[in-house]
Amino acid sequence: MKRSSKSALKPAVKAVAPSRAVVPLRERRLNFGDKWDYAPAPEDHKGYPIAPRHELFIDGKFVKPRARRYFDSINPATEEKLTEIALADERDVAAAVAAARKAYDGVWGKMPARERGKYLFRIARIIQERSRELAVLETIDGGKPIKESRDIDLPLVAAHFFYYAGWADKLKYAFPGRTPRSLGVAGQIIPWNFPLLMAAWKIAPALACGNTVVLKPAETTSITALRLAEIFQQADLPPGVVNIVTGAGETGAALVRHPGVAKIAFTGSTEVGKLIAKTLAERSNNAPRLTLELGGKAANIVFEDAPIDQAIEGIISGIYFNQGHVCCAGSRLFVQEGIHKTVLRKLRDRIQTLRVGNPLDKNTDIGAINSSAQLKKIRSLVKSGEEQGAVVEQTSCRLPAKGYWFPPTMLTRVSPSHRVAQEEIFGPVLSVMTFRTPEEAIERANNTPYGLSAGVWTDKGSKIFKVAQKLRAGVIWANCYNKFDPASPFGGYKESGFGREGGLHGLAAYCRLD
Ligand code: ADP
Repeated sequence: MKRSSKSALKPAVKAVAPSRAVVPLRERRLNFGDKWDYAPAPEDHKGYPIAPRHELFIDGKFVKPRARRYFDSINPATEEKLTEIALADERDVAAAVAAARKAYDGVWGKMPARERGKYLFRIARIIQERSRELAVLETIDGGKPIKESRDIDLPLVAAHFFYYAGWADKLKYAFPGRTPRSLGVAGQIIPWNFPLLMAAWKIAPALACGNTVVLKPAETTSITALRLAEIFQQADLPPGVVNIVTGAGETGAALVRHPGVAKIAFTGSTEVGKLIAKTLAERSNNAPRLTLELGGKAANIVFEDAPIDQAIEGIISGIYFNQGHVCCAGSRLFVQEGIHKTVLRKLRDRIQTLRVGNPLDKNTDIGAINSSAQLKKIRSLVKSGEEQGAVVEQTSCRLPAKGYWFPPTMLTRVSPSHRVAQEEIFGPVLSVMTFRTPEEAIERANNTPYGLSAGVWTDKGSKIFKVAQKLRAGVIWANCYNKFDPASPFGGYKESGFGREGGLHGLAAYCRLD
């Protein structure tokens, strides 16, 4: 690419030091930083105070962890401590599983399905009523822009509860000719990228089918799961139907090992997913059911006949949505050779307009990286790309001095063997490659251990079907990207895991079908 003749924007505070091969993206004609800018529009968060300490939620009550140990939860945009979160050990996990079992045997498992549905509808409505509070907390705790938590996460959270509430008394129609029965206690372990949405994906279908739940949120994002616990109390959900144990990997491992759990649903890294599968494989006689939703390295394929401007928006949202903290992020872009130059030029222009900064500001496009550990991982993979010969192009946007930030980044001259083309980066980093024929695109797209999602951009419907049939990915978006709906199943092939969440498939994961 042509280097900018003008100098890069001068950071007001402190920017990430550009490395040697970093090429700043060309300065925009409309230079928001220097000439004019939107006035700051921060969402008011004063009305939603965060308690200095959060306990475990077991048997309908907030209780102290037996070992009286707590860990800090921090705001990744400021590095300020937000609160202390209880650290559950094996005994706390056992108490949560016992409470869930008692609720299953005594109340929930026996309750008429239409009554279970009423609770789920009530929870969905309270989530809608409290959605502003939940969105603000999700943003403060996790770093994602408020416009995403407010307009995408929270509406989807409520929609999942509504959707599965509707199925609760219609399970026999979901599986005609079969008799669906609940499983018992479901152990659910979720990651930090969509804390409430992942909780909704797992809790709503489990409860609709008559199971009870022990949920383990990720250690960096427990606050909204515990607010959800308050909502369960507000909805008068019987005690023990959902229990929430907070902690890190060891708490999750204790849940996986517990013999009273009938089903484990895990979303997280492929590495931990493999560990869980191994642990359960060793328990040959009473191993619980397992679904795994793991990493991804999605291909976004743009053909020459694609609507280019629409594709640019799809590529941008596909990789920079939620700072790229999305397992189905379109992190590998394959562009057909004839439009390579045009797409790169338009991408550079568009990336320059992305606003990085205060996640609570309604104008922010890219918020904070969720933790310093994740930031380190992103930096080291981008560095490896540079060392292996890729060109790193980054915006010269200002980054706040405090907090964890990474500018929207594009890697060009990437070859398929580079680590950045093979490994999940889980950050706002796009690797761009080219192809000549549809066959080459398919082969390159499938050349990864993962198989979670993909995108295809073309004017021709027949090409979409031809290519989609050959892509080994669980979710394929055509002329769009990162579109979610509670009615459509989601899940992967190969090292992206097995089992589906969402839709009827998501119900099947929580039933025995006799
Ligand atoms: P990420 O790399 O995205 O942080 P992880 O797979 O490490 O993903 O974490 C996803 C979830 O799994 C988190 O709730 C985490 O605490 C939990 N976890 C981590 N290690 C283990 C383990 N050995 N057993 C069970 N759960 C775990």
